[in-house]
Amino acid sequence: KQLGRHGYTVFNHELRADQADQLAMEAELRRALDETDQLIPHYQPFIDAHTGQLAGFEALVRWQHPMRGLISPSIFLPIAEESGLIMRLDRYMIQAACAQLRQWLDAERVGEDIALHINLSSANLHDADLVDWLRQLIAQYALRPGMLHLEITETALIDVPDIAATVMRELHELGLRLALDDFGTGYSALSYLHRYRFDVLKIDQSFVFDVDRKEESAAIVRAILALADALSLEVVAEGVETLSQLQRLRAMGCDKVQGYYFSHPATARDIDWAQLAAI
Ligand code: C2E
Ligand code: CA
Ligand code: CA
Ligand code: CA
Repeated sequence: KQLGRHGYTVFNHELRADQADQLAMEAELRRALDETDQLIPHYQPFIDAHTGQLAGFEALVRWQHPMRGLISPSIFLPIAEESGLIMRLDRYMIQAACAQLRQWLDAERVGEDIALHINLSSANLHDADLVDWLRQLIAQYALRPGMLHLEITETALIDVPDIAATVMRELHELGLRLALDDFGTGYSALSYLHRYRFDVLKIDQSFVFDVDRKEESAAIVRAILALADALSLEVVAEGVETLSQLQRLRAMGCDKVQGYYFSHPATARDIDWAQLAAI
């Protein structure tokens, strides 16, 4: 079956409904985590909207399944979360991303001011051992802790208010930075900003999508930017696909932008450094 460069197989839709197949996939995911070469970190850059300079990367997992092909996280993350495998998966991605960052630093591909964003599911906020594990990892790869940003979605915080607060405070004490992902799509975005200390807001792509064509979306983005400014939070706008969106965001004072307009997520090997430098 011919897949586009970034395409996923289509039959996965039927798969979701099929419980037996879900169980099979859970077993396969467990195996993939043991063998590891099937789970492939991809990296998508984000860019300083004003200077065009590379500001950082977000690590995004892909599953290269031996039979099913390349599987999107939206298919297997729910299975990983239900089965608890997500904790191993996230640790695998964090470890891989830290090793990758060390390699880029050594090769002088990136400077010490680079940000590496990694997604963290809520289950990890129950893991009392996470902070110590991260401390060791940071030491192992001799990373400046502030380079690592953990992205947490609003929905991840719903079930774990107290534990989350403790873990997030410890992560900050360790020097890591926290990003609130998909900002504006949950029910209590504002109360989370009030309750927890975040460093970065990621404006959800649903607002970026028609920011250049629809006054309502532009108004929401403007309000988020004003809020972020008042709270001294950095902002990354996600899902930037066109020059027109970029220009609109830049004119509004948005700091950082991420999306297919600049680059699709790619394996470390496929990253086009020359193209990034030319932005
Ligand atoms: P997310 O964190 O909101 O990541 C952004 C998603 O938008 C990614 O989908 C990315 O490939 C896609 N994207 C990037 N630029 C554009 C664009 O210009 N237009 C559009 N339409 N989409 C764009 P992806 O990689 O399929 O990941 C889906 C979600 O899965 C992520 O959403 C994140 O919540 C989760 N995820 C991915 N990797 C991991 C991981 O290692 N751990 C955890 N816990 N979650 C992950
Ligand atoms: Ca994210
Ligand atoms: Ca997001
Ligand atoms: Ca999302």
